[in-house]
Amino acid sequence: MPTISSASIIQMKSVDLWYDKGKPAETWALRNINMEIKKGEYVAFFGPSGCGKTTLLYTLAGIEQPQQGEVLINGKDITHLSKRELAIYRQVGVGIVFQQFNLIPSITVLDNVALPLSFLGMGISLKRRHEEATRLLERLGIKDLAERHPYELSGGQQQRVGIARALANNPPIIVADEPLGNLDSENANKVLEFLKELNEKDGRTIIMVTHEAWSLRDCKRVFYMRDGSIIKVEIPKAPAETAKAALSTYLYKELHPELSSNEAIAKSLAHLLLRGYSIEEVKRFEFFLKQRFNNQIESDLFATLLDKPFKDGGVGLWRTKVEKITKWTEDIIKQKKGLEAVEKELAANPFSSIQEEVDRIRAWLLNEYKGKINDIQRLRLDEIIGERIRKIISSADFRKVLSLSKSKFGVGLSYRAAQRLAEKIDTILGVDPSEKLAQETI
Ligand code: ADP
Ligand code: MG
Repeated sequence: MPTISSASIIQMKSVDLWYDKGKPAETWALRNINMEIKKGEYVAFFGPSGCGKTTLLYTLAGIEQPQQGEVLINGKDITHLSKRELAIYRQVGVGIVFQQFNLIPSITVLDNVALPLSFLGMGISLKRRHEEATRLLERLGIKDLAERHPYELSGGQQQRVGIARALANNPPIIVADEPLGNLDSENANKVLEFLKELNEKDGRTIIMVTHEAWSLRDCKRVFYMRDGSIIKVEIPKAPAETAKAALSTYLYKELHPELSSNEAIAKSLAHLLLRGYSIEEVKRFEFFLKQRFNNQIESDLFATLLDKPFKDGGVGLWRTKVEKITKWTEDIIKQKKGLEAVEKELAANPFSSIQEEVDRIRAWLLNEYKGKINDIQRLRLDEIIGERIRKIISSADFRKVLSLSKSKFGVGLSYRAAQRLAEKIDTILGVDPSEKLAQETI
């Protein structure tokens, strides 16, 4: 038995899988897959249709058998299990949420959810099974639908039944194969929220397969697949948007010197915030952003336009996304406006006090910071914010002082927190592209 870290729940080693091996239709669906997933992780496999995502899920769920390699679940290779052991693993080890829901049409919602419990063969009474199924339906907010048949439900409701069923045997691993594929954006959002809750509150290991970039928002790691292989693993950095917005705004300006700063911001934000959306949607969003930055439309109208269906001239985003983007945009506009006033003031009188502006920017910088800041740290922070506004220190120096220890007259923040705050201030103050590139290569 190979030894692995106790925290790793799933591991694949040199896994190869062919469909129709030796026949003319032979397909090499998984090619030398090596990966490890820790207990309690929320990961996604992301890639175009046909790249092997479903095959990979089915392999780790014990539904497909690879011809080569090992699939270790809690350190045990499931490619060598007996039929009975494999059946038990599939029933209690892993819960599967299917894209097509796969509910049984001839029985009620309640029985669909209770069904996996009867496979256990542990003599659980029908009453107990129904109680357990009812509890799950309640958790998913669909208890009222218990006596209906699947065909009497909307897609969103069916998917919630599918999730309840996947949870029935309390499996530690939940795999979801394109669980949003057939849902409208509101229901898709609900499913994502629920997966996140299962991961964060219940500590389940979640493995999602998707080909839509926007649905990766809560994942801690993303495995990119192409042609049966994992080509890259990415740990999304939060809040990546601020960092990338700062960088790409300046890159856009480099590429398109004719753009005004508002146009460059609109362009870069549009592409960043709507990753995975169609070009038409991004273009329309960029147009509204530019109008908002140029103050040609009010914040309310901006939000309404984002929310409005695409066919009616809007961008057609979901409500929560609209709220987040509007808040973000207004924040940047407010900070930038304040700064412009101060820059004017400083140009006229380089020695005027900017304490008010420093106070505001400090509050804004710290509004998502979870740690505590004492008085000395605050004073030092104020000092460097002031210096940054007066362009006395560079973005890189600002970052350095933030993470420098207090004994060395720094602010003493963690490297990560320093990074975040520096990136945040970069979005409104900007960085010299050469400086930014130098930081990237460090
Ligand atoms: P994805 O889920 O990323 O769309 P799949 O895992 O379904 O990809 O498919 C990977 C490759 O294996 C594709 O070329 C597909 O046509 C092929 N394939 C999938 N399932 C089968 C099967 N049951 N029999 C034969 N070929 C299959
Ligand atoms: Mg698939």
